[in-house]
Amino acid sequence: MIAASEMRLRQLASEAVPGAPSLTLVPELRTDGDEGDLAQVVIDGEIAQRVADVRASLQDQLARALDRLALGRYGYCEDCGEAILAERMEFAPETTTCVGCQARRDRAR
Ligand SMILES: [Zn+2]
Repeated sequence: MIAASEMRLRQLASEAVPGAPSLTLVPELRTDGDEGDLAQVVIDGEIAQRVADVRASLQDQLARALDRLALGRYGYCEDCGEAILAERMEFAPETTTCVGCQARRDRAR
């Protein structure tokens, strides 16, 4: 199970080159009318910023996950050291925390 996540992690890492279009996270946000081109430009800018943020944090996350892999700690939470649920690893191979610790981090933000 972890081996499959490990393969996906390596795959993700090889794809996640900064600026590469592989991470297409831009949602469809088309307005129907010609209402407010300026608003659309602002929205586009915000989306671009968010995509850049998400991409940067994913890069960071991937790098951390790869570090954990090198240390033989991949699949274990970097906060509490417990094994991370296989389903979670499968869903997000770059994850480095268990659900509980992630929730704690999210609350601390
Ligand atoms: Zn944890």
